[in-house]
Amino acid sequence: MNEFDTNLAAGLLRKGGHSIVEEQDEADVILFNTCSVRQHAEDRVFNQLAQLKAAKKQKPDLLIGVMGCMVENYKTKFFIDYPQVDLLIGTRSISELPKVLEKARAERRQVIELAKTGFGYELYEMPRLEGKMQAYLPIMTGCDKVCSFCVVPYVRGREISRPLREVVDEVRRLAEQGIKHVTLLGQNVNSYNGTLASVIASPAIGRDEAISEQRLLRRPEGPPRNDGHGDVTFPDLLDALCEIDGIEKIGFTTSHPSDATEELYRVIARNPKISRRFHLPLQSGSDFILGRMKRDHTLTEYRKKIDLMRELIPDVAVTTDIIVGFPGETEEDYEATKKALADIQFDGAFIFKYSPRPHTAAARWDDKTPAEEKNRRNNQLLQIQREITRRKNQTLLGETVKVMVEDMSKRSREEVLARTWQEKKVVFKGTPEMIGSLQTVKLTSVTDETFRAEVA
Ligand code: SAH
Repeated sequence: MNEFDTNLAAGLLRKGGHSIVEEQDEADVILFNTCSVRQHAEDRVFNQLAQLKAAKKQKPDLLIGVMGCMVENYKTKFFIDYPQVDLLIGTRSISELPKVLEKARAERRQVIELAKTGFGYELYEMPRLEGKMQAYLPIMTGCDKVCSFCVVPYVRGREISRPLREVVDEVRRLAEQGIKHVTLLGQNVNSYNGTLASVIASPAIGRDEAISEQRLLRRPEGPPRNDGHGDVTFPDLLDALCEIDGIEKIGFTTSHPSDATEELYRVIARNPKISRRFHLPLQSGSDFILGRMKRDHTLTEYRKKIDLMRELIPDVAVTTDIIVGFPGETEEDYEATKKALADIQFDGAFIFKYSPRPHTAAARWDDKTPAEEKNRRNNQLLQIQREITRRKNQTLLGETVKVMVEDMSKRSREEVLARTWQEKKVVFKGTPEMIGSLQTVKLTSVTDETFRAEVA
């Protein structure tokens, strides 16, 4: 999501006549795109802003801006704590960036832009991606869940979904530009709930036309609703996108277990274009902690979802997120998480140390686990998962798999970097012409998490 927002911001500025420079000293404007999920990411921004104070003294015309979640998190407090900051752009105001920048420059004053609704840009504003084979595409934004540790609902606002028509048209445009691989983005992609077309937002599209949009759906049942709430689900959307010629691979991130349904698994299973990596955050293996996190499910319920997913999509690779040291996590709760990792055997896991976030329920609870203990749990889980991933990867050696070539290898000019449908990295002998193509390769060895292979 950050990468997408950064590229969009850069694209909008380029369109406005700006250019991107390599060295900080050469820049007239320095923009930070920020994340608020954990304190660590925020601290890095605060530190860099502090360092820029001197740069600004030397070059008084230098403009410093912050965009993204930290702006929503701290708002005008930024201007008080960091007077060197000139402009602030909220998560739903990206397309205002060129205007705000001009205003800050012309009027020589601090400017903030925060919107409460909408996406903050139209899909047609996305920069063209000639020469690329992969693109991100936000299909929804915001989150209506209430996880007690998470700042996302506060900084990204309520859920809204792009109409099906707009997403389909955009993916067609991407395909025309040569994009082969689309990654659908959302804080909660699988709770996507779109209208067919913008019946409400755009009076240009009549209701009759909206009804004819039904053919985009594989389940044409009755007229569309036009109360602003969609009746197009995430599985419907995936089905429609898989029909688009030129697009070879469709991935998505991130999902919440509540919206990981049998229907979704069936759509994935019958569409070979859809990536076989399913990232489904578990967060904790303890029902007590899951309850306090307000995750809406128990370990057993989660386990059932994974079992069904693996039954219906036998080649799926499941990855997850885990938080250690959540307020109230005892040694016993932690052991339950350890056991869950061993039982479920994920293909990969991101392990995080709990970080109290402003505006969240858990921030008011006692965070008693000492930092060393959080570190110990974090390191132990990382080690356990590394071993599981290693063993799982070993079992794949000798297999012949489909991969998409993404780039040249960073290490060698004679080799290309590709990914399997399980999103595992594979390096093999190849040429630049192969980028964007599908290849069938035989996996021969694996070090760390990168496979070596031979074209089959
Ligand atoms: N929408 C996703 C989560 C996105 S944030 C979901 O519903 O699961 C990515 C990951 O960061 C989360 O899955 C969680 O493991 C971690 N995370 C979020 N808030 C955190 C916090 N306060 N401290 C530590 N890790 C956190």
